[in-house]
Amino acid sequence: MVTNTLLQVKNLKKHYPIDKGLFKGKDYVKAVDDVSFSIQRGETFGLVGESGCGKSTTGRTLIRLNEPTSGQILFEGQDISQLSYEEMRKTRRKLQMVFQDPYASLNPKKTIRQILTEPLRVHGLYTKEEREEKAAEIMEIVGLHTSQLDRYPHEFSGGQRQRIGIARSVILQPDLIIADEPVSALDVSIQSQVINLLLKLQKEFNLTYIFISHDLGVVKHITDRVAVMYLGKIVELANTDDLYDKPRHPYTQALLSAEPVRHPDEKRNRIILKGDVPSPVNPPSGCTFHTRCASCMAICKTEVPKLRQLVGGGSVACHLYNE
Ligand code: SF4
Repeated sequence: MVTNTLLQVKNLKKHYPIDKGLFKGKDYVKAVDDVSFSIQRGETFGLVGESGCGKSTTGRTLIRLNEPTSGQILFEGQDISQLSYEEMRKTRRKLQMVFQDPYASLNPKKTIRQILTEPLRVHGLYTKEEREEKAAEIMEIVGLHTSQLDRYPHEFSGGQRQRIGIARSVILQPDLIIADEPVSALDVSIQSQVINLLLKLQKEFNLTYIFISHDLGVVKHITDRVAVMYLGKIVELANTDDLYDKPRHPYTQALLSAEPVRHPDEKRNRIILKGDVPSPVNPPSGCTFHTRCASCMAICKTEVPKLRQLVGGGSVACHLYNE
């Protein structure tokens, strides 16, 4: 149930200085470039786009695994981009991340018991016995067995490891979980099990998710709203059903046209994008999508389109919708 704003992101930027080559010391990679959106408590918000569009960097910057270059990150009304290291460490209990590669994100030298109790210990929560109880409890909740607590990560399958990664995030009872491509490293048969687990946990613990993925089919299934990113900017933001039924931005239209059809009678005209995603070091002028857009007009090459709210809902950054 959507009740109130949990997170508000205002003009967030993450620029990396270039430290080698032709542009050394002169320019920046604008990985996240003036991104704004807000998320309601209990909502699942999708961030989609091709590889290199800035969606993962946005996720990591929101919990300051990457330090923002500028902008505000208002979590429960407090700007967490200004918190000290220690204050942020305490706040991070409420903002957790689930990573793509469940194996790399689990310490291979620690047992599952240690992996699950450590976040509670670090945050000074509960007695040792209570932490052990919590670990056993969360193992059952994510569909694993307490008898597996003293095993090591390598003794589990990819799907089980992702369940452990999710358990480690949920054990702290966070408000917001940022899931960065949480199922893309898993077999298709396992993906839906992990997605169903995320949905079950959301209900049980009233979680809010930011779900980052390049897989539009998965995003359609799990999210309430979606933001589409291209070269560090949001180019379209809408309710999930509206975005999939009626994509407005030419980039969104192209992405969706490449999705496999769900029914043999369904016809879809595939839009083939010209060329590769341009380098974020030296992005095209005006609308950064203009080099690949079949609807490109003269204005598109010089003026950056603003993300505008449309009558009837949703927002789009495209000069086709200027009126
Ligand atoms: Fe295409 Fe112009 Fe819209 Fe950019 S602003 S997506 S180039 S029509």
